[in-house]
Amino acid sequence: MEINEKVLLEETVEKIKSKKIKHILRIQQTELKAVDEFMYKKGITRMMPLMMAPITDTLNHSVEENELKYEGQDFDVMKSMIFHKQLALVNPELDSLYIVSPNIRLEKAERGDSRHLFEFSQVDFEFKNGNMDQVFSFMEELLTYVFSEVKANCKDDFEAIGVGTSHLDIVTPFKRYRTEDLREKYGEDFEEIASKESTQPFWLINHKREFYDAEDLNNMGTYLNYDLIWPMGYVEGLSGAEREYKYDRILVRMRELGVNEEAFRHYIELAKRGELVKSAGAGFGVERMTRFVCQQNEVSDVTVFCRKPGKGKYIF
Ligand code: ASP
Ligand code: MG
Repeated sequence: MEINEKVLLEETVEKIKSKKIKHILRIQQTELKAVDEFMYKKGITRMMPLMMAPITDTLNHSVEENELKYEGQDFDVMKSMIFHKQLALVNPELDSLYIVSPNIRLEKAERGDSRHLFEFSQVDFEFKNGNMDQVFSFMEELLTYVFSEVKANCKDDFEAIGVGTSHLDIVTPFKRYRTEDLREKYGEDFEEIASKESTQPFWLINHKREFYDAEDLNNMGTYLNYDLIWPMGYVEGLSGAEREYKYDRILVRMRELGVNEEAFRHYIELAKRGELVKSAGAGFGVERMTRFVCQQNEVSDVTVFCRKPGKGKYIF
């Protein structure tokens, strides 16, 4: 036990002192600066993040739950700002917004792989009256800008970590694939296999996911949601959707998925009053983007402090 802790402490100190991490953080800082510049130029309003709330993302997989209370009321740590994006857009003056948001998802140990952290940051954005095509072209333009800024400003950092930048020469628009087509072609591991075979990011359309992702009413059983998949095996980098905002559809989807309606009663009430607005958006993981940009084996290679699920002991 004590030995393990000693090893852990040495590993942690080594990581804190590593030369590489400084350059990775510098590249990540350049990415985030470019994201902010891009959002500012596009007139997207920035909202500051919340870290706890009475409702948060229901996710489409189970995580360890925590018990967090404020003044006797149940709160959850923020898993994503999905509902707060939607709710903030109820303001008639706001057309679009984004948040750079810390999210906590206490992933089960089996997610202790190369792509998950149980605490991470994402850039979450939402457009009133938005749709899938708009989100795709927005994100393609954003990435083109961010990668060109990183290439122009981080030459020394890439050199220091021994990584080239040709993977950042993206060609837009990205290809779009339907999940069912890729599943048929590659089997259950389609996302990883298709990512490994690809040299360009691509869109994956149509997963059955959370109740807030809209179902295509002209084509029931298909969903107006999407993931952006990083190429070269770096897998999922973003997910988003056109949203369910109509009362009856929200109830149908909640009941299908077994969502606790009582916990969402105020949200449901606003939907019933017709206050929720049509919107579309997405969220992309900051550390996952940095992992791709810096071509690192593991997402935890781009963070100073270990938040890889299931390691069991976290000393800082
Ligand atoms: N923020 C959402 C998530 O983390 C993504 C979205 O906008 O749907 O899943
Ligand atoms: Mg989601």
